[in-house]
Amino acid sequence: MIKKTTALLALYSIACGLTSFSPIGPAPPVNNRKPKPVIKTIIIDPGHGGFDPGAHGLFSKEKDIALGISLKLGKALQKEFPGIRIVFTRTTDIMPGNKTSVQDGIRYRAELANREHGDLFICIHCNADGHEPGGYTVKKLTGYKITGKGKKKKKQPVYSTTWVKNTKKGTATYIWKADRNIPKGQAITHLQESARGENMGDKSNSAFDMTSPEAKMRAQLYEKKYFANSATFGTLVEREFAKSGRHSDGVMQRQVGIGVLQATGMPSVLIETGYVTNKEEEIYLNSKKGQNEMVRDIVNAFRQYKKRLESRPEAER
Ligand SMILES: [Zn+2]
Repeated sequence: MIKKTTALLALYSIACGLTSFSPIGPAPPVNNRKPKPVIKTIIIDPGHGGFDPGAHGLFSKEKDIALGISLKLGKALQKEFPGIRIVFTRTTDIMPGNKTSVQDGIRYRAELANREHGDLFICIHCNADGHEPGGYTVKKLTGYKITGKGKKKKKQPVYSTTWVKNTKKGTATYIWKADRNIPKGQAITHLQESARGENMGDKSNSAFDMTSPEAKMRAQLYEKKYFANSATFGTLVEREFAKSGRHSDGVMQRQVGIGVLQATGMPSVLIETGYVTNKEEEIYLNSKKGQNEMVRDIVNAFRQYKKRLESRPEAER
């Protein structure tokens, strides 16, 4: 967590450095001019919906948890920042836009966000670890036994079955390089969330792994302020979760996937609020206390994010 944050700050400095080296800089702001609001519109996107339940827990579905947290988040943001417009991709149990495929739903979400000129796009999801919720059985070969006599003698494997509690837990925030220039359809076709919800798979693609051979290439991506801003907001969100005692896997970047993030022309994050497959975490995710805490954490992160943007010169926001 700390390592990642330090790396982020380093990358962020690089990104800012690149931006400010631009030979044709914008005119310096006039002192008596009222600064433009940094964030005018936030798009909140509760994951899944309608025919697409997302991941399953023991007693609940991801789509309902995501909606519960999202609605509370919108309300809390509206209360603290009445000047900011909140746009939801859905407020009920439907696939956004009443679309009939996940793909069309994703396209709708992204197009809505772009059409509404969002300044920040927040997707709310829950994670699943690929096993049955609560716990699962593991079959293990423990030895062999001999059955029968003479020619009918057979060596048969002996298995033992053990029940393993599903303990995978924690939060993670995913980011993607957002670029208005990516042809929307093309960006979206890359994306297929797994039928199980998000087993996000390879978690080694941390956006801040500076030792990887791709680090140099990846650094170019940070030139884009949207990406840097997504990373900043994501880091703040994960830091707040950690402060609340949650296990945080930090900010992750996926090489392929999360089309909804790819297709939105604004800083975008996808927050995995916890594992619905972990019994204790599922209870937390569904509880009023848990949802209120997560909302408080995200709002705290947003407040700091907004402040950071406001403290920068307009051209670098
Ligand atoms: Zn999901």
